[in-house]
Amino acid sequence: MLRVEELRAGYGPLDVLHGVSFETPPGAIVAVLGANGAGKTTLLRTLTGLVRARGGRITLDGDRIERLSAEQRVRRGLALVPEGRELFNSLSVRENLLMGAFARRASRAEIAADIARVLDYFPRLRERLDQSAASLSGGEGQMLAIGRALMARPRLLLLDEPSLGLAPAIVETVFDVVQQLHREQRLTVLLVEQNAHMALGIATSAYVIQGGTIALHGSPEELARSSSVRDLYLGGETASRPDASGHDTSLDTSQDAPGGL
Ligand code: ATP
Repeated sequence: MLRVEELRAGYGPLDVLHGVSFETPPGAIVAVLGANGAGKTTLLRTLTGLVRARGGRITLDGDRIERLSAEQRVRRGLALVPEGRELFNSLSVRENLLMGAFARRASRAEIAADIARVLDYFPRLRERLDQSAASLSGGEGQMLAIGRALMARPRLLLLDEPSLGLAPAIVETVFDVVQQLHREQRLTVLLVEQNAHMALGIATSAYVIQGGTIALHGSPEELARSSSVRDLYLGGETASRPDASGHDTSLDTSQDAPGGL
């Protein structure tokens, strides 16, 4: 679905991505793990057109998209859940959801049906529809950020550190919903995370980005066994997959301190 080849990007004189290559096949949940400053956010912002690619290719369903505007890429089916949520704080929850549909030409009835579907996944937002986004807790804010992205009807959902700053139980809820969306809506997911425990728990394949290049690639099991991933991101422990209920029973998922893996 998404193929990224030799992607280069940066800010001013600074190059951040030095030739990043990876693939996200249809129906996959691909995790990109990396420490603070490795280039994860820059990667997602370059894929969505918020940062200009300085070189390389981004191919979505066989079409090159690196020259398209951010809005055109949303229309092609890419939607970003940005780091730090970036909600419209003075707007209500409902208005934030409506903003997610900005690039669509949809009828009121279609939009209303899509809001109802988002609320089925995030029932806590239903009670808060007319409250301002500023009044939400961190977990509710993350749910709204995902809901807003879903309003664009994406085929590929890009998630930038959804666990950041959330308590472990809330992180589990958010990841459960991402898995549910993947299963029920056939969403393909590209997940950028420092929280290797959680990301490897739901991913179908994974990469490690270091210093703006891909340093490792493999199945989640292979990466969890790799000594460098264990030392850098898993605190020397071995990651395991969630059990049948979707809950990971064996891991210490405390990640309150970003970068503390
Ligand atoms: P984090 O988890 O801290 O967000 P990251 O892996 O997402 O880390 P990026 O945010 O992509 O990393 O940052 C990569 C590098 O680019 C860092 O050195 C950062 O200081 C720099 N950088 C990020 N955004 C900008 C910007 N708008 N202008 C200049 N430099 C930037």
